[in-house]
This record gives sequence, C-alpha cells and structure tokens, in this order.
Amino acid sequence: MAYTYDPQNIFARILRGEIPNKTVIETEHTLAFHDINPGAPVHVLVVPKGAYVCFDHFAGQASELEIVDFHRTAAKVCAMMDVAPDAGDGYRAITNAGENGVQEVPHYHLHIIGGRHLGRMLGKA
Ligand code: 5GP
Repeated sequence: MAYTYDPQNIFARILRGEIPNKTVIETEHTLAFHDINPGAPVHVLVVPKGAYVCFDHFAGQASELEIVDFHRTAAKVCAMMDVAPDAGDGYRAITNAGENGVQEVPHYHLHIIGGRHLGRMLGKA
C-alpha cells in the first residue's frame, strides 16, 4: 500500500505560510517550530518540508539530502534548546504514526521534548 498525503493537513498549511508558527530553525528541507500545546518546557516539532505522512514513509522514500538535513536540524534544535545531554539534562525524541501511535497530524514530525524529567516512556498496557 502507498501512502496518500493530505495537502490540507495543518503542518502542510504551516509550511505554505498559511498559518503562523514560532520557528526555531529553518533549512532548505526542514522546519522546526514550537508545539502550540507543549507537554514540557521544551517541546519542538521538527518537520520535513516534503510531503511525507509518517516516519517510515520519510525514512523509506525521502532523498538522502532530506534525511541528512532533517537529522542535522534536529540535532541543532537539541543544542539550541540546551537539552542535549552533553551540555543539558536530556530530552526525548518521539514520533507517532497512525492510529495505534495516536498520530494527530498526518505529516511526519519528530517531537523534541525536555526541560523536565519525563518519567518512563510507556506504561504497561
Ligand atoms: P502528533 O499527535 O501528530 O504526534 O502531534 C501533533 C502535535 O502538533 C501536537 O503536539 C499538537 O499540539 C501540535 N499542533 C497541532 N496543531 C498545531 C499548530 O497549529 N501549530 C503548532 N505549532 N503545533 C500544532
């Protein structure tokens, strides 16, 4: 099955400049901005500019340039937010996918969350 991308999703609209965002950093292939409803003092969304629905779509089909740019930008976000463990107190990088992953916005994004202790990642089902 191939992914179908909805060009009206909220991040597509942010990327087109139709909705404002609080940008942390922007590159040729990637935009990182503050989450509108932060779950911790630091909550930044790292978003590729290409039309990818979720992690496996991006990892499987994006170009090497896009993939490298995305991850280098995510690393810069960690440094800029002072959460990288070499200088700060650490963070969690999370991506949700599909129904079981409880993905709200169907455009791939990585959450960089930190600024407080986050507890264990998952409770037991
Ligand atoms: P997901 O559940 O898809 O992994 O995460 C979507 C995230 O996008 C949520 O944390 C939500 O708060 C954030 N979000 C939804 N709409 C907007 C928006 O219009 N602007 C920003 N900056 N974040 C948004």
